[in-house]
Amino acid sequence: MRALISVTDKKNIGMLAKGLSDFGVEIVSTGGTYKKIRECGIDAIEIEKITNFPEILDGRVKTLSPYVHGGILYKRNDQNHKNTVKKNNIKDIDIVVVNLYKFEEALKTNDSDNIIENIDIGGPTLIRSAAKNHKDVIILTDPNDYEEFLQRLNTQNFDIEYKRYLAMKAYSLTAYYDSVISRYFKDLSKKDCQYKTYGLRKIEDLRYGENPSQKAALYEDTYAKGLLKDIEILHGKSMSFNNYNDLNVALELSKELGENSCVALKHQSPCGVAIGEDVYDAYKKAYEADSLSIFGGIVVINGIIDEKTASKMSEIFLEIIAANDFTKEALEVLERKKNVRLIKVDLSKDTTTEDVKYLDGKVLVQDKDKKEDDFEVVTKKSPEKSCISDLKFAMTVVKYVKSNAIVIVKDGKTLGVGCGQTSRIWALESIKNNHPDVDFTDSIMSSDAFFPFDDCVEYAHKIGVKSIIQPGGSIRDKDSIDKCNEYGISMVFTNNRHFRH
Ligand code: 5GP
Repeated sequence: MRALISVTDKKNIGMLAKGLSDFGVEIVSTGGTYKKIRECGIDAIEIEKITNFPEILDGRVKTLSPYVHGGILYKRNDQNHKNTVKKNNIKDIDIVVVNLYKFEEALKTNDSDNIIENIDIGGPTLIRSAAKNHKDVIILTDPNDYEEFLQRLNTQNFDIEYKRYLAMKAYSLTAYYDSVISRYFKDLSKKDCQYKTYGLRKIEDLRYGENPSQKAALYEDTYAKGLLKDIEILHGKSMSFNNYNDLNVALELSKELGENSCVALKHQSPCGVAIGEDVYDAYKKAYEADSLSIFGGIVVINGIIDEKTASKMSEIFLEIIAANDFTKEALEVLERKKNVRLIKVDLSKDTTTEDVKYLDGKVLVQDKDKKEDDFEVVTKKSPEKSCISDLKFAMTVVKYVKSNAIVIVKDGKTLGVGCGQTSRIWALESIKNNHPDVDFTDSIMSSDAFFPFDDCVEYAHKIGVKSIIQPGGSIRDKDSIDKCNEYGISMVFTNNRHFRH
């Protein structure tokens, strides 16, 4: 038997080569791998002896030869194939061990020549050849598989299930590898095409999914950047499925609100959001906005958490506290709590631009909801200057609330969030019902989509709202505008809908 070994990641290679050699397998190898195997004191043959050709073009052409691919690809039970390889003096290759140039590492260098040079050509070709002929050839692409392989070699236990497993891993690797390369070129060309590629690599299995009965794992989109990409978990248990899903929303909202903002979030919807004079003020306001729902929630601070804020935070149980950073003293305070997860995140980084939903057999892909809003006053009365920042704040928050969504704010703080209702008026009513003791006098209201009837304006007036911001676009817009004019409420259209489902 003959094995061809050509690996960039040389992990476990001595162990594998020894096992092969002990079993009497002849080892053929490419430049660097050959050197490594020889250093381990094991015999090997250089690839040139098989190809009858030197490695050329700085290694771009090493194994791309009919002497190699013929030896891998011929069907062992086909007489014509057998005659052809014999006539052409092609030798069998029965075991192929390959892993690829580190393209992902090269991407980090931002050096385009280096990146291109790290596109492996011969490696994927070897992998694909061997995996195609998996019935006759063993293909190993993962150093973690060497041990089991050697055990099976010694007992000659290569059943078809095992061979299919190795072929699956082989094609998954080449598909992943090419996905990352294609993303690189998509980025350079700024164009898209009919094929969507991601390049997802598993980071970890999660304890479970949204519910304990659901299996789940976390993958990383190798090429993408984004806020969650390089988070640092400074303290606490590992993150759960729901933690990641919720933190994702809270981070994006926090980034959009800017410095000294605080987002408290529960089950995909913000429950208390505020912009403060400083980090402490922001947290205090967000906490006071809804001191019930924040319990066991996620808090994101756009800024550096200091000791005073940390002490206030430690008064209640929070699942996650995320911020640009924590002072040493703040960390000392918060680390006393065993169960809270403390996360450092760079909120100045760009977010990704695409939103993807995997449906049952189809996949939806859209741009993220990032288009800038208009600010068109549609009522006789204009909003007071002092209300403008609150109007914009209310609109930013409502974008991150599940539809139908209504948000009421005052002085840079949410007074209530109505989320996920099947009727718009119910979203508004739920705010009043959930916060019966809150005074909504002179507050600001936002809606993620138009008012189909004037009932929301009627209700808003009843509870004391003085200015409304909404996308507009209903055939009955006039009814709502008339109602506002009747009650002396100012209303602004953004001409930009913000559904979120
Ligand atoms: P070595 O360290 O042995 O010199 O190189 C090992 C790497 O070369 C492996 O990652 C393998 O995928 C890659 N490789 C093998 N054959 C070829 C080839 O013909 N062309 C290119 N570009 N890479 C190859």
